[in-house]
Amino acid sequence: MSRFGMAIDTVRCVGCMDCVVACKTENKVPEGFNRDWITEEAFGNFPNIQLEIRTERCNHCEEAPCVDCCPTGASHYHDTGGVVLVNHNECIGCKACVASCPYDARFIHPDGYADKCTFCIHRVEKGEDPACVSVCPTHCMTFGDLDDPNSKISKLVKSRKWHVLKPEAGTKPHIYYLT
Ligand code: SF4
Ligand code: SF4
Ligand code: SF4
Repeated sequence: MSRFGMAIDTVRCVGCMDCVVACKTENKVPEGFNRDWITEEAFGNFPNIQLEIRTERCNHCEEAPCVDCCPTGASHYHDTGGVVLVNHNECIGCKACVASCPYDARFIHPDGYADKCTFCIHRVEKGEDPACVSVCPTHCMTFGDLDDPNSKISKLVKSRKWHVLKPEAGTKPHIYYLT
């Protein structure tokens, strides 16, 4: 079994948005929508304030409310790495998953189905990195198998400090922000 995830080094991210542009191009994301985006968040108190720049996307949660609430089974865990995907043909566009996601990661595609980051599974299954990871000029994103103790991502998660987004939501996100 594999369990895909990303480790994203917030110290090295410069907010250039190359990852956002790469995703839009690779996945033909329609005008006005995004599968990934950049967030800036300040931590600490004056004068010790730290600004974190993060590239965000679907967290491919292990306990995904979007999968649990889907009435048709269109939202599901893919066999490859537990990636959370939407089967477009089974999606009825009811928006239950959009409302259930604590990370605002989903939108309804103009063609009527729920859409979001797929971890570029079409590339990953060919042995390539996701598009966003492959273009990052500072190489701050690492994609890989969290269940393989020898993978680069496992070693990063073991050796660095990290946080996940909204841990209180109980979704067990698969994206680790290295600090
Ligand atoms: Fe940050 Fe890399 Fe995305 Fe640029 S491409 S915003 S450095 S994650
Ligand atoms: Fe579902 Fe949102 Fe988690 Fe992605 S981030 S798996 S859309 S709950
Ligand atoms: Fe977009 Fe692919 Fe990156 Fe997901 S993994 S944000 S679909 S480029």
